[in-house]
Amino acid sequence: MTPDAERKMQFLYTLRSRGVTDKRVLTAMEKIDRADFIQGFFTERAYEDMPLPITCGQTISQPSVVGLMTQALEVQPRDTVLEIGTGSGYQAAILSHLARRVYTVDRHKRLVQGARAIFDRLDLANITAFTADGSFGLPDQAPFDRIIVTAAAEDPPGPLLAQLRVGGVMVLPVGQSDAVQYLIRVRRAEDGLHYDELCAVRFVPLVEGLGRDT
Ligand code: SAH
Repeated sequence: MTPDAERKMQFLYTLRSRGVTDKRVLTAMEKIDRADFIQGFFTERAYEDMPLPITCGQTISQPSVVGLMTQALEVQPRDTVLEIGTGSGYQAAILSHLARRVYTVDRHKRLVQGARAIFDRLDLANITAFTADGSFGLPDQAPFDRIIVTAAAEDPPGPLLAQLRVGGVMVLPVGQSDAVQYLIRVRRAEDGLHYDELCAVRFVPLVEGLGRDT
């Protein structure tokens, strides 16, 4: 086995040992190469289970957290998914293998442009990336079957809850940026919203308005 193949096998093994057991999620994470979403020096560490820096002072999330969030989202093949926090584009690329359509939003234009270039190169034609303040969601494309937020807010943003279809699921970290945050799952049923808490996590904060590069 080449060192590269060995590292990828270890990567999948780590995901499984940290609780990512859904076969469709593991297959998607096997297909999408995390190294494609990291630049320069840090590319070497692409298969390690740790967050890594990307441009605009942001981070690409830890792979096991990406896996657990994707699994908790219970994406179905016909779903339309909204992601808030495009970052490197890694999470959106994984979702593109599981869903019919993926919309992804970031407040930094530079990150959106970078992610679009990777989506084109990898031929991930079912992803549309926008530069916008994701706290307001994407009213023109709503409602969504699934919503995933990859930056932490103190509470689930109202507009996102409003854009979740009945039967829909939203997964997001909540809590203050300098304190413990919890990953929560919100389900919209006919009788209202139901919440469950999944695990403690650490994310960059959801920030209001557009980035200064925009
Ligand atoms: N999902 C990403 C990691 C996201 S890091 C990946 O797979 O690489 C969190 C991202 O959320 C950052 O890129 C940050 O710019 C973005 N963000 C923070 N607040 C935002 C907001 N209000 N609207 C849109 N994006 C936001």
